[in-house]
Amino acid sequence: MIKRKFDFFVIGGGSGGVRAARVAASRGIKVGLAEGWDLGGTCVNRGCVPKKLYSYSSHFSDEFNLMSTFGWKSFKPKFSWNKLVVNKKKEIKRLNEIYKGLLKNSGVEIFNDFASFEDQYTVKVGKNLIQSKLFLIAVGTKPRKLPFSAQKKIITSDDAFDLKKLPKKILILGGGYIAVEFASIFNGLGVDVTMCIRGRKILKGFDDDVIEHLSIQMKERGIKFITSSFPNEINFENRKFNVHFKGKKNLKYDLVMEALGREPNINSLKLNLAKVKRSKNDSIIVDNYFKTSNKNIYAIGDVIDRVQLTPVAIAEAMHIVNNIFNKSKKSFKYSNIPTAVFSNPNFACIGLTEWEARKKFKKIDVFTSHFKPLKYSLSKLTDKVYIKLIVNSVDDKIIGLHYLGENAAEIIQGFAVAVVKGLKKSDLDDTIGIHPTSAEEIVTMKDKN
Ligand code: NDP
Repeated sequence: MIKRKFDFFVIGGGSGGVRAARVAASRGIKVGLAEGWDLGGTCVNRGCVPKKLYSYSSHFSDEFNLMSTFGWKSFKPKFSWNKLVVNKKKEIKRLNEIYKGLLKNSGVEIFNDFASFEDQYTVKVGKNLIQSKLFLIAVGTKPRKLPFSAQKKIITSDDAFDLKKLPKKILILGGGYIAVEFASIFNGLGVDVTMCIRGRKILKGFDDDVIEHLSIQMKERGIKFITSSFPNEINFENRKFNVHFKGKKNLKYDLVMEALGREPNINSLKLNLAKVKRSKNDSIIVDNYFKTSNKNIYAIGDVIDRVQLTPVAIAEAMHIVNNIFNKSKKSFKYSNIPTAVFSNPNFACIGLTEWEARKKFKKIDVFTSHFKPLKYSLSKLTDKVYIKLIVNSVDDKIIGLHYLGENAAEIIQGFAVAVVKGLKKSDLDDTIGIHPTSAEEIVTMKDKN
């Protein structure tokens, strides 16, 4: 065993871990980082980045449909899944190298192996026995799987990006971010998609009206829904998945994908040897300053199960490094985090849902707008933009903004800055729109619900 000593040792080379390691090292601190897989974590390798690339790819089917309405002679485009996979791999490899370069250039020593605690001051990484004054756990999560007979054949988002070929007919279990995004991707690429959710609605926790509008548009694009029902068994026979529903029919699919939430990626960490406590769902328990039950060990990102979003992990990383190395004690604020679902159409929001706002505030005003965007006006496409703006009537502040339609994430990202800084409805009224755009509706909304 090779013995090594560090001031700050990061376990996990995803978005949060890499950011914390880089920033700490750039302050002249001796930093090491262990990552057994490729650098970049879920987001770069098996999440946000490849998902967005595939999402772009799937949107082309709409563009092809629209072309002829704008005078272009239509042709029959041919899609190559293999080409997309190969190009995606190239891009991810490039990003892996960029992450490596960023770490090395800021002075972080990288260990390409998984870490496990020996005791509360020591981790083993390959042939290295590493002691550090402080540890940061940023190991993220992995897909949750249910114990169906065909478990090994059922894919998750980890596998979906590298399928050998596209299935003809897929069943997606779950109705969260991943399920909805992949349903749209597969649908856009011509796959017959069915989503199956145990409840009545997809995207629980988001604004009910927006989700209703999104579901309608997903259905209009051909995505089927099985709601308030869930398989009790799935087996694989004669190259087909047989999906059994309690007291109901059995259905057959070429492929089944589980997107049922994620669980902490902690199996090999031996956290008990470091006296790090976990919650019921195995996520690592931290205080307001990301300190675990062991005062020398911190944790951030998806593994603490607060808000499982890459930009949040990065912000937590910046926060923790500032707190530790400036010896300050600021707690992290989780309010007003903008988010997007890269469904087709896209959906993005910041702030409260109408239901949350009615519970929290005495009096609110709700403005909505529902219209066919100019881009689709020449075509038979039925897509509509839906916008909901929620205002606290007492101080006129925007407490929720929800946008369903093309480029939703890009639009909400801009407005998010203003909402975080206390944007008022009167500020929107004072702003002149850019015509003709879809987003101009946000500054011209007059009709209260
Ligand atoms: P989510 O938590 O978003 O959704 C999980 C889904 O699985 C829900 O529909 C849930 O149903 C269902 N489910 C959970 N357990 C069971 C069960 N035992 N039986 C039946 N249904 C079940 O998880 P995802 O996996 O989609 O995504 C994980 C996280 O990754 C997200 O929370 C998000 O933070 C992040 N993410 C963000 C993205 C983005 O920013 N665009 C993209 C992808 C992921 P129910 O609603 O009834 O609980």
